Amino acid sequence: MPKRTSAKKKRRAPPSIKQRPPTLVERPYVVADGITQSLLSSFVDCRVQCKFSLLGWRREQTKDSLEYGSLFHFLLETLYECIRTGSITHSDDALVDGPWWRKTLKTWRAKMAPVADAGATQQTEFCIAQARGVWKGYVRRYLEDFDRKRWLELEGVFDTKWNDFRLRGRRDGMMRIGKELWLLETKTKAQIAHEAIEGVLAYDFQNLFYITANQAELLAKGECGRIAGVKYNIIRRPNHKLKDGECLPDYSARIAEDVLVRPDHWFVRYEVAYPESILKRHQQELLWKLRSFKQWWEFDQKHRVTGAPDGNIGMASLLETYRNEAACQKRWYCTYIPMCGEDKTPYNQDGILFEELED
Ligand code: SF4
Repeated sequence: MPKRTSAKKKRRAPPSIKQRPPTLVERPYVVADGITQSLLSSFVDCRVQCKFSLLGWRREQTKDSLEYGSLFHFLLETLYECIRTGSITHSDDALVDGPWWRKTLKTWRAKMAPVADAGATQQTEFCIAQARGVWKGYVRRYLEDFDRKRWLELEGVFDTKWNDFRLRGRRDGMMRIGKELWLLETKTKAQIAHEAIEGVLAYDFQNLFYITANQAELLAKGECGRIAGVKYNIIRRPNHKLKDGECLPDYSARIAEDVLVRPDHWFVRYEVAYPESILKRHQQELLWKLRSFKQWWEFDQKHRVTGAPDGNIGMASLLETYRNEAACQKRWYCTYIPMCGEDKTPYNQDGILFEELED
């Protein structure tokens, strides 16, 4: 018998289509849009690099290292959020190839699929095999992370006013240890230079920027509590090569064996507490950097069409946009090297502002 249909049958709402954010060509950047630590670091490194990214120039490229890092961040964010909400209570719930692992990887593959061609899909599977090799050792090493009370928030986006500047970013996590608040910051690295890292962490720009912004955010919400410091969570990125004829499960198993034999080599956590004196100096310098950035960008935008004035306005040359060739080859090669050599072919001008803050 055919089903009776009601004249008043409700129409199913069309699936909501997420609006694409405007590109930086469609809606040019203004300082009131906010400043992230990576934007400010890029300004300090090389003004040309900063300007290219603010004009939306983007190179289509997936770096293995970036994808492994993003995948590991995603695994940790999902794991800690499950612990925070109580759906994972024990390390056995997060084992490789268990239901949690399969579901999380399914979500990751779905996230990667819309932008992937055959080569990128192969790359994604290779990074999954690497993460699979490292995961069991990581989970075993940090059993204290399975304490639900520890986690206040994961991957929280912040957007807060500090000294008339809008500071934005995404923290990996915020945790409570005893009465103190700590930020979690995870990095994946192929090389871990202990001495240098420890030395630099004492005044690390990103950590102190995040503490400044998050402290301001807590204050604006009327919440007290000082952020004591940052748990700096380093996970080594495998540099094992795939052998001839080796399948990905064997490759993962080879990495896992190494991880279980020498966990200290693979995982390092630094607990960096920042005293008031370090924070104070950082904040003074941060204010100078923010003001310099604002003056530079507004000067640049004002003279973009008419060309810069000819030097008759005193300090104008301090606001000019010049290359810092010393910044081209650091830990990573700058993504704009061909562009600086006047080759625009690998680029599209369709970048969007703060893509890293989009969900
Ligand atoms: S290639 Fe070098 S000079 Fe050019 S934008 Fe990058 S860092 Fe600056």
